[in-house]
Amino acid sequence: MIILVVNAGSSSLKSQLIQTDGKRSLLKALAQRVGKPEATITFTFGDDRNAQKETREIPNVTISDALNMVFDLLESDERSPIESLRQIDGIGNRVVSGGEYFTQSVLIDDDVLSKIDECSAIAPLHNPPAVECIRLMHERLPKTPQSAVFDTAFHHTMPAKAYHYPIPMRYYDEYHIRRYGAHGTSHRYAASQAARLMGRAEEDLGLITCHLGNGGSVAAINHGKSIDTTMGFTPLEGLMMGTRSGSIDPAIITYIMRRDNITFDEMDDILNKQSGLLGVSGLSGDMREVLAAADQGNERAKLAVDMYVYAVQKAIGSYYAIMTRTDAVVMTAGIGENSAELRKMIFSGLAHMGMILDNDKNQVVGAIGSDRIISVDDSPIKICVITTDEEIRIARETDALIVLAGRGD
Ligand code: ADP
Repeated sequence: MIILVVNAGSSSLKSQLIQTDGKRSLLKALAQRVGKPEATITFTFGDDRNAQKETREIPNVTISDALNMVFDLLESDERSPIESLRQIDGIGNRVVSGGEYFTQSVLIDDDVLSKIDECSAIAPLHNPPAVECIRLMHERLPKTPQSAVFDTAFHHTMPAKAYHYPIPMRYYDEYHIRRYGAHGTSHRYAASQAARLMGRAEEDLGLITCHLGNGGSVAAINHGKSIDTTMGFTPLEGLMMGTRSGSIDPAIITYIMRRDNITFDEMDDILNKQSGLLGVSGLSGDMREVLAAADQGNERAKLAVDMYVYAVQKAIGSYYAIMTRTDAVVMTAGIGENSAELRKMIFSGLAHMGMILDNDKNQVVGAIGSDRIISVDDSPIKICVITTDEEIRIARETDALIVLAGRGD
């Protein structure tokens, strides 16, 4: 099938046309800084080896305008990989929050859409643009099935003791405040690929998956089910991230707000966009840049890297404590997949738990898509590197939902 995957964020739109049979990317479009004067959209034609790129400046466009540009290009540009929009068999939407409504991916109908819209209350930056895109695509392609693949769905198996917060229960009853987690698609994919790599059934394994990208979260996956994850009510909780603080003493927030007399929005911005690696290093939220500065002796950058590593180690250790067994720790996303240096720092502190890194295997720079085990052969707990591919996963889930509903070819 040919599936268009759409990932609408607060200021970006990622979309990819994927042929699910051959796992081939036919076209990628990435609109960044949407709504701002410096907005751009970049199209990548073809798969990675022969890809050609074109970037256009699109000042002040809305997310709908950007999506319309993707459709216009697919419809009428001579480089379009399809001849007609009717060749698109389905559309897979990444939806950040499915709240308590959705425990798995679904095909979208009016009821589903209104529930996604309702969940905007708990994901105000992400669900509204997704709803806007789903509506627009329904207008342009009313007969094409659309799915919603939720970041939160994989974590619905968490037990009550993991998803409740120790605050008055009225906030759960009335405002639905609880842990929902995120990156579910990536954790699920990393777990299933790791099980395949180990030649074992997921149901027989205990896995700790670490999605370490610009955002970061760790999940405890016991016998194929997520039993806990570090992100919470929002993606702000848990690990220190590129620009997010992760978990801090909540009293710090009210203290700073009172002392600096700042608004809720300003505090939100500090915690989400000015903290993490950026806040501590004072330089950047990008791990590569922080590592480079640390290598050159920048003390704040070194501290930021040390704090990052420490947060990941603590998360792995705490999940080891709550699992019934731990067979592997799985590293994925930008930092987890690419930084041998960070992996070495993380696991050099965890050997006593039976996670023993093979330094040579860790150094091998794998080709894209090369999932591998990087622990020593007799390590009691394996360490795996898995290349995450959320778009492929969304495309495959959409393909499966369409087949199941009898709406495919
Ligand atoms: P997103 O969460 O936006 O999808 P990614 O998964 O692409 O982000 O991760 C981006 C992060 O990965 C950035 O901090 C980037 O610096 C880091 N990263 C990518 N390659 C490397 C590398 N070779 N060494 C260290 N960090 C890297």
